[in-house]
Amino acid sequence: MTNLAIARTRTEAVEHRLSDPPHLFIDGQRVDALSGETRAVVDPATGELIAESASAGVDDVDAAVAAARRAFEPGSPWRSMSPLDRGRMIHRIGDLIYAHADEFAELEVLDAGKVRGAARAIDVEFAARAFHYFAGWPTKIVGSTVPVSHPDIHIRTEREPVGVVAAVTAWNFPLLLCGWKLAPALAAGCTVVLKPSEDTPLSALWLAELATEAGLPDGVLNVIPGTGPVAGEALTSHPDVAKITFTGSTRVGKNIAAKAAAHVKRVTLELGGKSANIIFADADLDLAVAGSAGGIFWHSGQTCSAPSRLYVHRSVHDQVVERLRQAAAELTIGHGLDDAVDFGPLVTAAQLERVQGYVDRAEQAGAVVHRVNFLPDELDGFFHPPTVISDVTDDMECAREEIFGPVVVVMPFDDLDEVVARANDSEYGLAAGVWTTNVNTAHKATAALRAGTVYVNGWGLTDPAAPFGGFSQSGYGRDLGPDSLDGFLETKSVWTFVN
Ligand code: NAD
Repeated sequence: MTNLAIARTRTEAVEHRLSDPPHLFIDGQRVDALSGETRAVVDPATGELIAESASAGVDDVDAAVAAARRAFEPGSPWRSMSPLDRGRMIHRIGDLIYAHADEFAELEVLDAGKVRGAARAIDVEFAARAFHYFAGWPTKIVGSTVPVSHPDIHIRTEREPVGVVAAVTAWNFPLLLCGWKLAPALAAGCTVVLKPSEDTPLSALWLAELATEAGLPDGVLNVIPGTGPVAGEALTSHPDVAKITFTGSTRVGKNIAAKAAAHVKRVTLELGGKSANIIFADADLDLAVAGSAGGIFWHSGQTCSAPSRLYVHRSVHDQVVERLRQAAAELTIGHGLDDAVDFGPLVTAAQLERVQGYVDRAEQAGAVVHRVNFLPDELDGFFHPPTVISDVTDDMECAREEIFGPVVVVMPFDDLDEVVARANDSEYGLAAGVWTTNVNTAHKATAALRAGTVYVNGWGLTDPAAPFGGFSQSGYGRDLGPDSLDGFLETKSVWTFVN
């Protein structure tokens, strides 16, 4: 079957979602964008138009924030809800994601260029898990009594939701990032306006409807697809937004943080990465190569924590390069609805051009580009083959900048102190990893690596209980785990003077 024919094997449920008229979701309802603007939604594996999406303007942002603000007023159904009921509702959202898991996975394949198996096992699964994990938190958000040194004064602290949250997300994990942002925000008792990426708006809109079906009061969750410069800017600089939780590029994150300073908004930034992955001479090479190749080629390298900078001990360097070439050559490239496929496209034509530019410039700078897997002729979408680059020096652009594609640069090293210093010599600090069978090496390296997540003999797994985020210009604050909940809460000290 051709790529286009496979794309047309869509289920009725998903076909129905794709034919939805363009809309926003505000105050518990589908509404037209006041701006009247729409954007094309394109299947990255075919380049074919599959749907139209509304594109929110400034007035739409105002309407969504006003709805979220009303829903946050004291005495509103949401603010009056018991923590137990809040938790139950969040749990139901997770249940509804599972109930529609196959359709969500298919939608993510078509909208974001995913591969069906991974979309189901990771995007959908981990979105649902986030809701199920945070559903347990509302009943456990507690203050404390404070042992002050004044006589006859009692102090207790209370933890309160911060207010209206602006959640702005990237295109690489549309549904999963909804789980990471919304579940803790709702558990804390906040209300939310979510702006998904303009390139992948579909799953977030559907999730908002399911959240209403789960019982979420109107206005608690509003979803407004739209562009960054219009809807994103208007939302993140809106005076009634108390907290911004952002996942995207470091460039946009810096812009958001600068503007948020004007209103002293609380900000969490999950930004880019150029994660260092280190294979020591004593590593189990089967495991190390499989994990490293899986980490960089999964979702065509469009993962923020992709192990894109690979340091290999000189004694095994050539062997690892050869094995990586083999791993790249073995991937089956095609449309993600074809279950034989394990490697899909990049999200847009612009992203493809960007990745090609990095690879071309690496070659011009003297690096060796290993072309080992060629695109099938019938592919029309935004595909870039899995690519290994060797003979790279630390100062090359391909070793320093986030490419955000299926491209790994490989560099040799001689000893632990040297490689850790080189790994840490980056403006980013999202993830890092070490492959070794020596426990001392593992301890020394994990202690010295400057990254928000450090993996030993594995790569890429997340868990809703484990905080995820970056050091340095990879961001601040954390998604997931109790740390992320803190980001949606204020602490109030209540002083009682006993007379
Ligand atoms: P991006 O920064 O271009 O866009 C992210 C979001 O910001 C989109 O919704 C976009 O519309 C919006 N936006 C753009 N300009 C804006 C502005 N001026 N004001 C407000 N919002 C604006 O990023 P992208 O290309 O969608 O995603 C790729 C990037 O995301 C990579 O750098 C990747 O590493 C990063 N990422 C990080 C994590 C993490 O957890 N650290 C996870 C996924 C992706």
